[in-house]
Amino acid sequence: MKHVARKSRSIPFLTEEEPDYGAAREMLPGVRRIVAQNPGVMTYHGTNTYLVEGDDGIIVIDPGPNREDHVEAILVAAGGRISDILVSHGHHDHVGAVDMLRARTGARVHGADIAPMLGAAAVDAVLADGARIGLLRALATPGHTLDHFCFLREGDGLLFSGDHVLTWSSTIVSPRHGDMLQYMRSLELLIARDDPLLLPAHGPMMQNPQDFYRALLDLRLRRENAVLQALETGPKSLDDLVRRIYPHQTHPMTIEAAGHNLVSHLGKLIQEGRVAEQAPKVWARID
Ligand SMILES: [Zn+2]
Repeated sequence: MKHVARKSRSIPFLTEEEPDYGAAREMLPGVRRIVAQNPGVMTYHGTNTYLVEGDDGIIVIDPGPNREDHVEAILVAAGGRISDILVSHGHHDHVGAVDMLRARTGARVHGADIAPMLGAAAVDAVLADGARIGLLRALATPGHTLDHFCFLREGDGLLFSGDHVLTWSSTIVSPRHGDMLQYMRSLELLIARDDPLLLPAHGPMMQNPQDFYRALLDLRLRRENAVLQALETGPKSLDDLVRRIYPHQTHPMTIEAAGHNLVSHLGKLIQEGRVAEQAPKVWARID
């Protein structure tokens, strides 16, 4: 799957070889990664499931999609020692395996209290900002979705970023599940911190991600400016805006995703009183 050409050249995104699916690879002391075999235009090579050594057993971060082979791989790697399951947010490629993994291990599931997004996989322990699960601390980072949490291993500043920050691509901020204003605030939260290691739910690990975070925030500010500029010549429909602002998108899924991102930007500008939805899916500047 080609994924590089459509990306902004100004952001230092990372790539990596196709992983050995199902193999547990040591990333850092006490941290292993298993990539689920759900590659795609939104998921890169697949969902990264992390196994973190804790005092009471292994903590699994994002069990991944509903695939038996992936759950088997997690169970084999963990050797039956899973104490807790953490979910960054309720999207299917992260929580699809929760029910199966919980049934096989009895581990406690920690996540935000947004049950409809988790489907049948309701959580056992509702996360709040700052909550501790063994060595890990939950950081509320709404934006990609409203229920999103990152997890921090304090001591060595290892940040498991879920889908809030990906290293292979910018994240989707859809108007249905997410919020652009909150997303940008959550990015500013990571910029203000100084965590030296980033492990995302899709894509490779990144060291010293501060400049990367700033580039991601810049990208959003540029998109916002592009929206405002496009509206300077009069009201525009969503199709108009997508064609102008994302002229290189050709895949139907990425065009749809681009449209969602733009509606999220427009939502932020509406919240700020700079834009109004003049007719269904037609926006105009009011500032
Ligand atoms: Zn997601």
